[in-house]
Parts: sequence; C-alpha cells; structure tokens
Amino acid sequence: MLGLMQDWPLLCHRIIDHAATNAGDQPVISRSIEGPMHTTNYAEIRRRALRVAQRLERDGVRLGDRVATLAWNSWRHLESWYGILGIGAIYHTVNPRLFTDQIVWIINHAEDRVIMTDVTFLPLLEKIADQIPTIERTIVYCDSAHMPQTSLRNAVPYEDWLAEADGDFAWKSFDENTAAGMCYTSGTTGGPKGVVYSHRSNVLHAMTALRPDMIGLSGRDIAMPVVPLFHANGWAIGFAAPMAGAALVLPGQKLDGPSIYQLLTDYKVTCTAAVPTVWLGLLQDLEKTGGKLPNLRRVVIGGSACPRAMISTFQNVYGVEVTHAWGMTEMSPLGTTCSLKAEYAALKGDALLDVLQKQGHSPFCVEMKITDDQGRRIPWDGKTFGRLKVRGPAVAKAYFKDDSNILDEEGFFDTGDVGTIDRYGYLNITDRSKDVIKSGGEWISSIELENLAVGHPKVAEAAVIGVRHPKWDERPLLVIVLKPGEKASKEELLAFLEGKIAKWWMPDDVAFVKEIPHTATGKILKTALRAQFKDYVLPSAAA
Ligand code: AMP
Repeated sequence: MLGLMQDWPLLCHRIIDHAATNAGDQPVISRSIEGPMHTTNYAEIRRRALRVAQRLERDGVRLGDRVATLAWNSWRHLESWYGILGIGAIYHTVNPRLFTDQIVWIINHAEDRVIMTDVTFLPLLEKIADQIPTIERTIVYCDSAHMPQTSLRNAVPYEDWLAEADGDFAWKSFDENTAAGMCYTSGTTGGPKGVVYSHRSNVLHAMTALRPDMIGLSGRDIAMPVVPLFHANGWAIGFAAPMAGAALVLPGQKLDGPSIYQLLTDYKVTCTAAVPTVWLGLLQDLEKTGGKLPNLRRVVIGGSACPRAMISTFQNVYGVEVTHAWGMTEMSPLGTTCSLKAEYAALKGDALLDVLQKQGHSPFCVEMKITDDQGRRIPWDGKTFGRLKVRGPAVAKAYFKDDSNILDEEGFFDTGDVGTIDRYGYLNITDRSKDVIKSGGEWISSIELENLAVGHPKVAEAAVIGVRHPKWDERPLLVIVLKPGEKASKEELLAFLEGKIAKWWMPDDVAFVKEIPHTATGKILKTALRAQFKDYVLPSAAA
C-alpha cells in the first residue's frame, strides 16, 4: 500500500519561492566587484532568477545543459544558480583558483554552453577562448557602464542581457532526481572529477545543514558564507540560508582579514563559514587591531583540519562558538560537524578542546564506517585508524562521464580519508590515506602533528610530510612558516611538541620555508611539498 501524501518533488527552485513568500524582505547584501555594497532581498532575487531562467531559455538553453559560473559570491551569482536550475539546466561552478589548464579541461569535460562570470576573470577567459569551443556565450556580471573592452565573441553585460526578459515566466517542473548542479573535485590527488548534484540531494542536504547541530541557521540569523559558491557546492549555504529565511551577506572578491572584519561588524553577521586560512587572516588582523566580534555567534570551519589554537582563540578570546566541519565535494559537501552531544556537554578546558578539535559526528542522511585494508569494519573505539567510507542520499554514486564503480558492496563511498571514530560517533580525521606517514609499519598522523605545531605562538603555518628513511621507511619532517618578523630554532619547536605526542611520532627534523603550497581550495598541497623535499636527507638518515 502506498502512502496517501501529495507528490511534491524536492526541487531547488521551491527554496527561493519559499524565501520570497515567507522572508521576501530579508536582505541579501553583497560587496560588488565594482566596489560599492549592494543590497537586495529574497523577493527580488526570485524575480531576477525567473528572468535569468526566461532569458537562458530564449538563448536555447534546455534541460540538462550545463551553464558554467566563474564568479565570486554575489547576489548575481546566487540568482543565476536559481535561474539556471529552474529550467532544469545545471549550474557548473568553476573554481578560478585552479590551474588554467585544469579550468580548460573541466569546461570541455562538462561541455558548458554558456559561462557567467565576473569582470575579474575576463583576461583569463580571453586567454583560453580558443580552447573552450563549447562556450557559445559569455555573460559578464556587470551593466554596460562597467563592461570592459573584450575580444570574447558574444560577450554581453549581464544586466543588459537580463533586461531583455520581463520575468513573466514559470519554473519548469521535472523529476526531483534531475541534475541541478555540478562541481569538480579540486584534484588534490589525481585529476578533477565531476560531481553532479540532483535537486533532491541539494534540498535534502540543505535541510540537513539547517539542523542546530550542523550549520544551524534560523530566520533571525545573518549568515555570511565566506566559502565561495565554487568550493564544494558553497557548503550548502546558497540553499540553506533562503530555506531558513536567514539574511545573507556575500563578500565578493575581498577575503582578507580586514575586509571580512568590516562586513562582520557593519552587518552584524551572526554565523559565518570558511576554511582555516581565511580565519587565520582574520585572527591575525584582530590581534593587531584589538577588534572584537560582539555579534558573531558561530563560525563554521572546515575544508581542512581546524587547528586547536584557532578553536580556543575564537571561543575563549572572542566568545564565538566554533563548529568544526568535515566534508567533501562528493558529499554535497557536509559529512560531520562537531557539536556537543549530551555525553560531552559538561566538558571544560582542555578536555572540551580535545573534543571540539575532532571533525564531529554525522547527521541523519550520512552513514559512516571505518574499515581496514581488507574492507572489514573496525571498532568505534576512538583509537583504531581506518579508511573512512560514507553513504547517504547526498553522497555521490558515480562521477560525470565515468563508468568506474566508486561504491563498495554495501554502497559506501571511500572518502580517501583515514580516521578514528569514538564510541559516541565522533570522527577524528588523522590523514588523507595518501598522506599518512608509515614509520616502521605503524602510522603517524600528519594532521595531528600539524595541529600541535601551529599552537606555537611563533608559527603561522605548519605541514608534516613523510621523508624517506633507510631504517623506518618514512619519518616525519615538520615544515614551518613563521609569523612575520619571528625567529625560532628547530630545537625550540620540537621541545614544544615534547610530552604532547608519543616519542616515536616526534619529527626527525624541522625545515623553515617562506611559503607552503596550497590547492585551489586552500588545502596544503602535500604532493608538491613531497616533491620539494624529495631528496631531503634527514639527520637521522645521514649517518
Ligand atoms: P573538497 O572536496 O575540496 O572539499 O576536499 C575534501 C577533503 O578535504 C576531505 O576528503 C578531507 O581530506 C579534507 N577535509 C575537509 N574538511 C576537513 C577537516 N575538517 N579536517 C580534515 N580534513 C578535512
């Protein structure tokens, strides 16, 4: 027997309909690329999204076509997402921080027909125009007054293009499993792979993200996703904020500490989210200026491991709750968040930080398991490392145009991460499986060592890699970037780790560098670092 409930497909454009009806006046404030701040609201975003949909359809864009966006977070980018998916076309966010040849590769692989972009990226597009033949039209996020001279064929200012549609248009309706969006993995290990989100997965995931134990937005929040819409589906905030009726602040191109601080303060932001490097910039700025964060309630930090010192500073110095989050492009992207379950709610001081530093527990709709190399489940004892695998309705089951099977026999996807899970379900990521340091047959967690090292007051950033060793196979090398103007010795840094880790985890050496290489999504690029130190001879190996 079937249930007798209405058939109401979970379509993403229903989210903006809901926001326009129930929170139509809620502001959406953006730092425009042209410079000034711009304010609109959800009712207006919906009206313009309908015009985007109408105008795209007039250009011949149809169900299943890919429309690329190469753009910072702004109201135009957000309304384009809804306009594109509202006719069953697919927004494909392109990460401008990828290498140019990767950008060319993914645009061709996705066969994007149209690209919507900021003025900032016109020189890049002009350079690669001959290599991306599927692009029929470039729509530039500006009005005709701000449109630069360009050699691009069929480039139009967005506002002029949009003015040709009157908005007398209705969303299309289709199966909720229809593709809505696309995002390529950043290729930390291997080439980019296309992840395709459906309307259903996006809607379910936004509802998941809204739980108080996850990002937890309400209609009283003012949310600022500093994480770009082009990074892992914008961490679901482009859907979750309008679903909750939360006001939005979109930071555009300027993601440095002072610019972020200005927006947090001027617009009384209550909840924000980004990778640790962004918060490093903000905290360094606050240390200098003595600024405070009286309105900010919660900062969501993920994309790479959040250092313990960062959690402690936000919470203890600025009174801001930190939600450490783990996820990946393939998971839409949220997998776990670290909020306190009843068992941990009374913890204080270091014991509390020990928990908050973990990546946290999974919500309904994400199932996890850790396995050994033979694929057998290992216990949730908080100690035994295993390969982390996940399944759920917003987890990828395949990559775009790729027949390979990426699921195990139970339907779990191997995340490529390694971690422990404790008895209450708290995940602690210890490494990418490719970055684990294998010393004498045992594993050393590079992430744990990095987290401890950045707790040293003179250290700006730390990375740990395995370096070849004749006796132990690999031993850890600690690579350090010092804060500007600081000096430190190897001995001083190693002494700082003493007593905090098992003796055999102690790095064999410390290398000071000016800069640590990063991926397009702000993660430490371990492959480049390993290549840089390929011929490095550890003192312990030189004998
Ligand atoms: P991406 O698809 O670019 O978001 O990258 C996903 C990968 O980033 C994950 O598989 C992890 O290796 C890493 N990652 C994301 N969040 C965290 C976190 N909180 N701690 C440690 N690693 C993380």
